[in-house]
Amino acid sequence: MQIFTENFKSSPYWWEKAPRPKIEIKKVTEKIDVAIIGSGYTGLCAALTLVKAGCEVVVFDAEDAGWGCSSRNGGQVSTSIKPGFRKLCGQFGEVAATKIIKEGQNSLNWLKNFIAREKIDCSFKVPGRFFAAHSQREFDRLAANLKAQPASLEVKAKLVTRAEQRKELGTDIYHGGAVFESHASLDPALYHSALLEKVLKAGVTIITNCRVKKIRKHNAEFSLDTQLGLFNANKVIVGTNGYTGQLTPWLSRRVIPIGSYMIATDVLDDDLINELMPTDRVISDTRKVVYYYRPSPDRRRIIFGGRVTTGEVDVKKSGALLRRDLIGIFPELKNVKVSHSWMGFVAYTFDELPHIGEYEGIHYAMGCCGSGVGMASYLGTRVAEQVLGRKEGDTAFDKLTFETRPFYTGKPWFLPATVAYYRWRDGTDQGNKTSVV
Ligand SMILES: Cc1cc2nc3c(=O)[nH]c(=O)nc-3n(C[C@H](O)[C@H](O)[C@H](O)COP(=O)(O)OP(=O)(O)OC[C@H]3O[C@@H](n4cnc5c(N)ncnc54)[C@H](O)[C@@H]3O)c2cc1C
Repeated sequence: MQIFTENFKSSPYWWEKAPRPKIEIKKVTEKIDVAIIGSGYTGLCAALTLVKAGCEVVVFDAEDAGWGCSSRNGGQVSTSIKPGFRKLCGQFGEVAATKIIKEGQNSLNWLKNFIAREKIDCSFKVPGRFFAAHSQREFDRLAANLKAQPASLEVKAKLVTRAEQRKELGTDIYHGGAVFESHASLDPALYHSALLEKVLKAGVTIITNCRVKKIRKHNAEFSLDTQLGLFNANKVIVGTNGYTGQLTPWLSRRVIPIGSYMIATDVLDDDLINELMPTDRVISDTRKVVYYYRPSPDRRRIIFGGRVTTGEVDVKKSGALLRRDLIGIFPELKNVKVSHSWMGFVAYTFDELPHIGEYEGIHYAMGCCGSGVGMASYLGTRVAEQVLGRKEGDTAFDKLTFETRPFYTGKPWFLPATVAYYRWRDGTDQGNKTSVV
């Protein structure tokens, strides 16, 4: 059977509604107050805050605007902190752990308020998340965690038993799960393009298809050597996340680029999608090598993502493997075709936490570990406030050490073995210490 539709595209489904933007470069002023590298959520949210404060801001991107993860993701908005509270307590102590978990909650609330305040039209809603337990042990762990939520960090959540599961999802493969009421969804590329329009209207210059090749510091100033020549700036923010390269070797040694893969199914019958996904909730599971999925905003397709191979692969191959795994969850989809298959690079960090700060005068925010719709937007805003010297820029991540490992220079040679190990562990029900709360 042909598994791809006739008009199959190896580009994100989201780009159908939000085609790649073409931006005319206006004349750049001699003096840039802040140069921003990367035009995803991080870069654009930073730019919006800075331009509103009266700064002359120029954003550079090596590709078109939002070409990175910010127009490719699953559009699931969570609290974005991967490690659970107990693990964080062990690492940083209870006070810092509480602040970190709260910062995740802040990022989600911040995004909700930002979208409402700025009247951003991007199919944003708060349907909640069904967090599906892939084993009985994970269900028991979820139940125990919900019962003993740490004081002051409680979130609205309800346990769903296996017997009740079909009210959430048309499958029996999971052992129940939990619904986290505050988690949200949006159309990621529409969110990005609305943000881009606002940033441009506010007076930010965006220079696309212009890779920054070198940053040099001269006393209190920076010069940026780019594909379109030299630019000088007083300050620099790096928001390159999973696309961080040798431009910033110190950062490159601290983020691990990992491919995340997605497919969109062909249009499904109303009855079928209503049976498989009776609600609009976003879905993810307790595996370490997680599957994440949801109905498309118009409820005509399923958008399904995950990591299906140990190394990086072509999107036709990943598309076929994701389809196989989707059918594993919903056998009713055995004849479904795939209309879009795509991927992007997320940035993991060695402590699985996002990082924000300054190194040798260059500001950065990155490392959202695959959960950056809310967090990258939030940290982009915070890093801009740090540049402006404002107290509001303080975050729970400021004092964390941004770790690297010996011999790591930005190419994750250990990834295939690590993914293979986690996949084995998921299969053997050894338990997962991450959290979505
Ligand atoms: C398939 C997929 C699914 C995902 N699903 C979700 C999800 O459901 N929920 C969620 O919260 N998160 C999700 N994420 C993660 C989320 O999309 C990212 O965390 C977030 O978009 C990061 O935004 P950013 O602005 O930091 O980086 P990006 O949007 O990746 O932007 C970085 C930009 O930097 C540019 N760049 C790099 N180097 C240079 C240079 N030298 N010069 C100029 N420009 C440069 C790149 O071209 C790129 O456009 C997903 C990611 C992927 C790939």
